[in-house]
Amino acid sequence: MEYAEFATVCDRLAATDADLEQVQILADWLTETDSDTLTLVVGMVRGKVFEPWETAELGVSSSLTVEAIDTATGVGTDQIETVWSETGDLGDAAAWAVEHETQQSLFSEPLTLQRVYETLRDLADFTGEGSQDRRVSEVAGLIADAKPDEARYVVRTALGHMRLGVGDGTMRDAVASAFLDGSEAASDAVERAHQVTNDYGLVATTARDDGRDGLADLDVELFRPVQMMLAKKAEGLTDGIDDVAEEADDAHMEYKYDGARVQIHVDGDEIRVYTRRLEDITMQFPDVVEAVAEHVTADRCLLDGELVGYDPETGNPIPFQEFSRRIKRKYDIAEMVEQIPVTLYLFDILSHEDDSLFEISLRDRLARLDSAFEPSEGVIERAAHREFDTEGTANDFYQEALTAGHEGVMLKNLAATYQPGERVGYMMKVKPVMEPLDLVVTRAQWSEGRRSDYLGRLFLGCRDTDGEFIEIGRLSTGYTDEELAALTDELTDLTVSEDGRMVDLRPEVVLEVEYEEIQQSPEYGSGYALRFPRFLDVRDDLSPTDVDSIERVESLYEDQ
Ligand code: AMP
Repeated sequence: MEYAEFATVCDRLAATDADLEQVQILADWLTETDSDTLTLVVGMVRGKVFEPWETAELGVSSSLTVEAIDTATGVGTDQIETVWSETGDLGDAAAWAVEHETQQSLFSEPLTLQRVYETLRDLADFTGEGSQDRRVSEVAGLIADAKPDEARYVVRTALGHMRLGVGDGTMRDAVASAFLDGSEAASDAVERAHQVTNDYGLVATTARDDGRDGLADLDVELFRPVQMMLAKKAEGLTDGIDDVAEEADDAHMEYKYDGARVQIHVDGDEIRVYTRRLEDITMQFPDVVEAVAEHVTADRCLLDGELVGYDPETGNPIPFQEFSRRIKRKYDIAEMVEQIPVTLYLFDILSHEDDSLFEISLRDRLARLDSAFEPSEGVIERAAHREFDTEGTANDFYQEALTAGHEGVMLKNLAATYQPGERVGYMMKVKPVMEPLDLVVTRAQWSEGRRSDYLGRLFLGCRDTDGEFIEIGRLSTGYTDEELAALTDELTDLTVSEDGRMVDLRPEVVLEVEYEEIQQSPEYGSGYALRFPRFLDVRDDLSPTDVDSIERVESLYEDQ
């Protein structure tokens, strides 16, 4: 496919905010796309050069891109940076630069989608001395052959932000309407196939060639991570038990551990560990690979569980924030293995030998899980669990989990099938609720993509002992588009200065914010960070002097 065609459709998608219109544009295009290109189009329109579980990275930064645009067009880095800061988008700056280029390339050849895809993928292979220069020259090569619109999307793809607002939902409905009947049931079938395979290329091709039956036949495959079943939040233990009991006669509870959700794929000697976000973290956890090799008795299986870090001195579980250092660290792995030992708690199994287990009950899956590995204390265990009958024993178990330093409990319907990627009521989490905080907005950042007209990321401050504001976290969820639009209006009036997408504000707007936990963190001036903060309300009735103090934050931290 000519890249010009791709860019034209991207422009049309970017020009509308209306979801239905986007779905229609995309569906028409997918229908017209020839068979060989469909997979490529489906990935590239969402800016995907790599699958989430591929460990390769493009290694393209904004400054490298500015250099590449300059190399290709000769308009000068100052000019490019000026347009970038005016438009807020380096892709738009690239389009401008191509339009105003001072050097014409002599042997320009039209870009194709395939070429852009392959050239960008190849960038990940450049290593060692001179690799950055080679990246600049490859990206410049694409821009030199690009028309203005094409340059915009080459740059946005290289930087990983397409800014089209085409998310999984749009793609799901477009595939359903291009190749099935476009009904809600068709969208559900597409979504389920995607949750199991995480591959819209495969899903689109299957929908086109084999229809809904073909989609239903798509199954879990080892080393292609699946979306994991998620939990709903219960309003407390009693409510949670009522909810689960209403759904199921057969239920049990497990400790809710505060670690990293992992799916482990095993096929003989090949063992890979993926996160809930489908990233491959095998390299960071050689100890887990070793434990699985030693204690998993199945030849082939896909295991679901939580990886928990421990303090080797006290033997206590450490909060996720600290544990996440091990996930991020890509060097000195052996040292990290020593510093932060882990236990793998298993609580589900999605495939065992040649059987896919999505459709059988949790009780039966757990029996398969028990037959697939031999527990070893502190290394690989079943998640602590207990059948519950009366609220008394349930509460004992809950308190036991909290005393042991875990987050709470999970209530699980043992009759339920596995629903990938869904927050269905089959699994309810119960954990102590923290009291909300009233905090002032100190700074804000313009969003990207669909919400780019909004200040979508808000930095929050509490009061220090001198009455100054010190930051404690940033907020980006919990508000509706309307609430965010109103907040944006209110906050832009308080602008002190702007730098790129960041806006410094006079600290006047007070928000009520809920969160799951307070953690110590060097990232913010207060020394604390809120985990999963959510917007609750604008507190017009409070002035900045009423916001919560660092003393209150400290005492909440101590009590949790
Ligand atoms: P949340 O992230 O608050 O939605 O809670 C769901 C997460 O709890 C899961 O994604 C797991 O990472 C984690 N978790 C901890 N213990 C369990 C357990 N026993 N069963 C299921 N999930 C668990």
